[in-house]
Amino acid sequence: MGLKDNDRAEIEALRAETRPTLRAVSEGMEAHLYHAHEVLDHGFVRVVDYMGDDAAICQAARVSYGRGTKSVQNDEGLIRYLMRHWHSTPFEMCEIKLHVKLPVFVARQWIRHRTANVNEYSGRYSILDREFYIPSAEHLAAQSVVNNQGRGEALTGEEAARVLDWLKADSTRAYDHYEAMISQDGQQGLARELARMNLPANIYTQWYWKVDLHNLFHFLRLRADAHAQYEIRVYAEAICEIVKDWVPAAYAAFEDYRLGSVQLSGKGVACLKRMLAGEEVTQEGSGMSKGEWREFREVWG
Ligand SMILES: Cc1cc2nc3c(=O)[nH]c(=O)nc-3n(C[C@H](O)[C@H](O)[C@H](O)COP(=O)(O)OP(=O)(O)OC[C@H]3O[C@@H](n4cnc5c(N)ncnc54)[C@H](O)[C@@H]3O)c2cc1C
Repeated sequence: MGLKDNDRAEIEALRAETRPTLRAVSEGMEAHLYHAHEVLDHGFVRVVDYMGDDAAICQAARVSYGRGTKSVQNDEGLIRYLMRHWHSTPFEMCEIKLHVKLPVFVARQWIRHRTANVNEYSGRYSILDREFYIPSAEHLAAQSVVNNQGRGEALTGEEAARVLDWLKADSTRAYDHYEAMISQDGQQGLARELARMNLPANIYTQWYWKVDLHNLFHFLRLRADAHAQYEIRVYAEAICEIVKDWVPAAYAAFEDYRLGSVQLSGKGVACLKRMLAGEEVTQEGSGMSKGEWREFREVWG
């Protein structure tokens, strides 16, 4: 697992030191503070800090709605109303700061979410650890035959063994050369900022990632989705479990209106109406492309 002994000691010391506070706290989140949740073979997600709770979302919303919120029965109802009507700014009142250890190729997907604040481990300043993501057998999958951006069944037999051997051997060889290049034993030693270009994309990096709840939900909506790549999805799923305990009402609304919802096009709505009226609708008569029709049919199982 990716946490080093000194990291663990620091976390334990922080957990042992408690102070009273006047700030609003989320009991569910307090239990997660500093705990590292293991992800993949060497990665983790841990909560370093957070601000706000379900009540903070409602408090902010009531500034804009004032007396109007009297018609909304309770905080949960108000949060569901905000989520349903895309009134997103009250969710921005909550923030979370995570420490994440992740493979570089996962970090490349993650960093595309521009609405967060990031501080990454410096490969110019420090030596990267000899830690590589090597997929477990069931995740060593073949290229999907229906989706260019996806994977199919797991590789088997000799092919699986060969791929696994290459992944391990190439990672080891690249790191051996990295170490040899930066070594100052009997030579000048190549600068760390240059030597790192030899390292493969499955090496682990680390960062602090701070984001507000609205933008975190956007990230989770895309990355906890079944179509997201497995290696980023497992991080998103770990974060979902944390958010569920942090802001239970907001997470429940997100689960219902975003994760569990489907989006229909105008053509999709028209087809559905025809189908509900008892008409047999085919792809040819739907006005949809084959891909759109397949996705539309998938929604109804
Ligand atoms: C399944 C999947 C496949 C993908 N495949 C590819 C791919 O093949 N190639 C590729 O390059 N990317 C790919 N991406 C990345 C994708 O295009 C987005 O870059 C990524 O999901 C971040 O989304 P975002 O821009 O909405 O998020 P954020 O950057 O967090 O932005 C959130 C929202 O803020 C607004 N915003 C932020 N910055 C700006 C800005 N500068 N201008 C205007 N509005 C802004 C937008 O409304 C945006 O939706 C893929 C993503 C997914 C989930």
